[in-house]
Formats: sequence, C-alpha cells, structure tokens
Amino acid sequence: MKVNELESARMIDTHCHLASVDFEPDLATILRSASILKIAIISSSTEKDEWDVNLGIAKKYDFVFASAGLNPEKWTETKFAEQWIRKHSDEIVSIGEVGLDHYGVRDHKERELQKGAFIDMIHLSKELGLPIQVHSRSAGRAALEVLEKENATLVHMHAFDGKSSLARMASNDLGYYFSIPTSVVRSPQKQKLVKAVNIERLLIETDSPVLAPERGMRNTPLNLPLVIREVAQILRMDDDELQTIILENTLRLYTRIHC
Ligand SMILES: [Zn+2]
Repeated sequence: MKVNELESARMIDTHCHLASVDFEPDLATILRSASILKIAIISSSTEKDEWDVNLGIAKKYDFVFASAGLNPEKWTETKFAEQWIRKHSDEIVSIGEVGLDHYGVRDHKERELQKGAFIDMIHLSKELGLPIQVHSRSAGRAALEVLEKENATLVHMHAFDGKSSLARMASNDLGYYFSIPTSVVRSPQKQKLVKAVNIERLLIETDSPVLAPERGMRNTPLNLPLVIREVAQILRMDDDELQTIILENTLRLYTRIHC
C-alpha cells in the first residue's frame, strides 16, 4: 500500500538515510510528521544491505524517493552495485551517494581505487540519465576534478567540506548543485558555503541520522525547516522566497520527482 498524503511538497530533503538502523524504532512516526509538514525526501544508500530496504520505503510512501549508492571505501562492490542500479533504474531518482573519501584514507593506491569506482559510477549516471549524489569528505577538490574531467552534468555535491571558492566555481561554471545540511546552524564552513554557491544551484539536506543541528544528536528530516531558516538569514532573504527557489532548483535537477 502506498501512503499518499502529500499533495505538494513545500521542501525536499535531498539527502538522508531512512534505511539506517537509527530510524528502525520510529520511522513511520517520522514520515507521518514529514507528510504533515509537506517535506518530501530523497533517501540515499551506501551499501547493498540498504538498497532493497530503501527502495521498499520509497515504494510505500509516495513522498519518499530512493537513491542507490556505495560508500567510497566499499569500492570492491562496484560491479555488484552497478548490476543492482541497472536492474532498478526505473525505480530510483538518482545514483548516490558515491564519490571519494580521503578523510581516513592516506594510501595513494587505495585513493586511486576509490577514484576508479567513482568514474564507473559517473559513467553509469550519464548512461542512465540519472543525477549523481557525490560524497567528497576531505576530497572536495579531487572529486570536482574527476567530475569535470568525465563531463558529468547532473551533479549534486552533498555536505561539501572543500573550499568555498571551489563551490563558487563549480556552481557558476559547471552548473553543479550543492546541498546545505542541517549542520549549517553550527558550522562556519557551511555558512560560508551558502554565500559561495550560485543561488540557482542551492539545495538543502539533513543527511540524517547524522549532521544534526546539535552535534552528536540523532538528526531527522523533520529538522529540514531549520536549514531554510538559517540559509535565509545568511542570505538576508525571506524564508518563503528562498523555499520556492530551492524547491525549483531541486525539481530542475531531479526530473523524476513530481510534487
Ligand atoms: Zn549521506
């Protein structure tokens, strides 16, 4: 049964993880509240155990959309991920999250293997015409270089932690989208990012259950309005005006989502 309660979304959480075990106890309650608040959700995944669970949630709730991806450190499973994505390409709205993670990986060879898997996923996203949600922890510049070299076009950089000058360039010159996470309320780096990204390329996300407004707490998509409020304050804009622009941006990139 499809839970159809969302007539039209006010805002879209473009990146979170509803298949996380952290949501097991109360997912139905959270999603009931999300539908009341008119928050639509793109639920991302990072490993094979999550793909089917995530897709199941998206099939049950008509305001939840699935994205299938692979943690960069699980590059050995790339072929398996590609098979799953091809099989379910009509049921997902994007590929992701995929990308590079240099945070804990110092080894050059290991980084090259991540890069190879990332390139395979970029090619798949182009072949299928699906946007790609990019994870680039401590690898912002490296990820942008790979995307540009591979001529990726439908690009969504999530929780970008690189230099804001790079985000300015990528959003203006390459048309890449950047989602601002809930942690913007406490992160000077994310606040700087808001000012750098071309407003036509701004998206919002929670990355829940992580990146909560309060460090270490569980995050949920219900915190998404806090992002609008904070970003509107930073840009000195009216909340409603900003919300409309960001919703339009999201639907421009995610053409499979109809609200
Ligand atoms: Zn994530």
